[in-house]
Amino acid sequence: MQCEQCQQLILTDYLDGETNDTQNREIEEHLSRCPQCKEFAHNAKKITVEPFENMERLQPSPQVWVNIQEKINQPQEQPDVLAGFLDKVKELLSAPRPAFALATALAVILMIVTLVPNKGNQSNVARIDPVEQIEYMASLEIYEPDENGYYETDIEEYFL
Ligand SMILES: [Zn+2]
Repeated sequence: MQCEQCQQLILTDYLDGETNDTQNREIEEHLSRCPQCKEFAHNAKKITVEPFENMERLQPSPQVWVNIQEKINQPQEQPDVLAGFLDKVKELLSAPRPAFALATALAVILMIVTLVPNKGNQSNVARIDPVEQIEYMASLEIYEPDENGYYETDIEEYFL
């Protein structure tokens, strides 16, 4: 038996007592004449087996099982969080809010302009000058700050 094979077996089956009689004999025989592997086996046992040998086996208190059983039997309540969120979204989408609608429309237009595939003719790309487009969008006053200088739209209250 080679050292490598011996050490492999020690780390896997030998320390678990899973090696058969023939393997045990070969390992013992190898260990008796190979100080390196004997040291390896000693250290492996010390690290992997001994710490658990004298450990106290802990048992959870009976109340733990009672609590788990109660949790399992509890009727599941539907969380209100999602419903609340959906209501908020519906409210935002349905309420007449010109600024919000304009912002949405601009986003859609921008998306369409971006996503329309270029049909291979490079001259078509320049149909909308991006600089002009950006300047136009920057010139739009989407939100009118109130006297306090705040942008009191619902969506900003919601996120800020
Ligand atoms: Zn060896």
